[in-house]
Amino acid sequence: MEEKKNAQKVCPYAKKCGGCQYQGIPYPAQLKKKHNQVQSLLKRFGTVKPVIGMKDPYFYRNKVHAVFDRDRKGNIISGIYEQNSHRVVPIDQCLIEDEKSQEIIRTIRGMLKSFKIKTYDEDTGYGLLRHVLVRRGFTSNEVMVVLVVASPIFPSKNNFVKALRKVHPEISTVVLNINDKNTSMVLGEREIILYGKGFIRDTICGKSFRISAKSFYQVNPVQTEILYKKAVEFAGLTGKEKVIDAYCGIGTIGMIASDKAKEVIGVELNKDAVRDARINARENKVVNISFRQGDAGEFMEAMAAADEKADVVFMDPPRSGSSEKFLNSVTRLAPKKIVYISCNPETLARDLLFLTKKNYVVKEIQPVEMFCFTDHTEVVTWLEKAAR
Ligand code: SAH
Repeated sequence: MEEKKNAQKVCPYAKKCGGCQYQGIPYPAQLKKKHNQVQSLLKRFGTVKPVIGMKDPYFYRNKVHAVFDRDRKGNIISGIYEQNSHRVVPIDQCLIEDEKSQEIIRTIRGMLKSFKIKTYDEDTGYGLLRHVLVRRGFTSNEVMVVLVVASPIFPSKNNFVKALRKVHPEISTVVLNINDKNTSMVLGEREIILYGKGFIRDTICGKSFRISAKSFYQVNPVQTEILYKKAVEFAGLTGKEKVIDAYCGIGTIGMIASDKAKEVIGVELNKDAVRDARINARENKVVNISFRQGDAGEFMEAMAAADEKADVVFMDPPRSGSSEKFLNSVTRLAPKKIVYISCNPETLARDLLFLTKKNYVVKEIQPVEMFCFTDHTEVVTWLEKAAR
């Protein structure tokens, strides 16, 4: 009996879906596998600490994305794209996505017929609903539903929202996102708020954040706290430092570090995220932080050209890693510490090679599990400027 209770859950969609490359592997072995992978990529820079895993590796994703389509018989389906294809694998229950959000997606799927809403067909361009995205605030329980549609005319939209909220009163905002392009990007530029404020809130490391539909937000809230705490610990702040939070998103890392720093500057490309970041600073009464919108590399280059310095640089680039422009400029700003947060150990290895050739030494490499059952690993690395 006991054994059954502790047995690993088995996903019936694993083969077709392909989203969880480590399905079927016991969780402790997954962590070992991730460690080995990071170790083999980064061992030249030092010992890699064991991966900080999750106690409960299921239903952790606070953001659920479902593609809508029809099957051959014409039934409405929702799920995810089959790997390397645009065929939709229908999924009723995913083991890593937030359960409440999945319930909402199932409800929406059931409502479409009576509201005469057609799913979008990528080949013909006919139909309306392309994707549904649901995000839930882990501490606030606020829920955002984003309906991604091919055209802004959504039939009986007010009644649709009313009917949806009747089943799920926890939904605090509904956003219509218009994506009329033939693209694999999920979200389009234009948004219409159908209900609520157009964003949700969540609290992380004691600070409250608003998150808009198009802003990046870490998908595993339990582990994000661990990751951010580690990053701030590595920075070893004393209250006197000028800190840069590069690729800052909605300003999370910089705001959490701001209590222990003299000044923080965040830089981020996404306009909506920067707007969120500025409002987040105001609402948390953080006065020693400011944000710039633009390419992080260009911002750092301009700072270096003005002969400015920084004491600590946090950098958290996308999977493609940082740019040479950024890395070159960082070394000119000559921070004592660089804390590099990476979601792709391969580009991390490339960028660490650059930095270690330029007078930086790696002090600690700490992988943190953010993506259980997948082959992705987050790694936070602490670098120090070597004494000349
Ligand atoms: N540190 C944040 C966001 C990390 S995700 C957090 O923990 O939530 C990476 C972020 O980099 C995204 O918000 C993305 O919009 C941003 N980004 C991507 N390319 C960029 C660039 N060239 N310059 C600045 N920001 C960029």
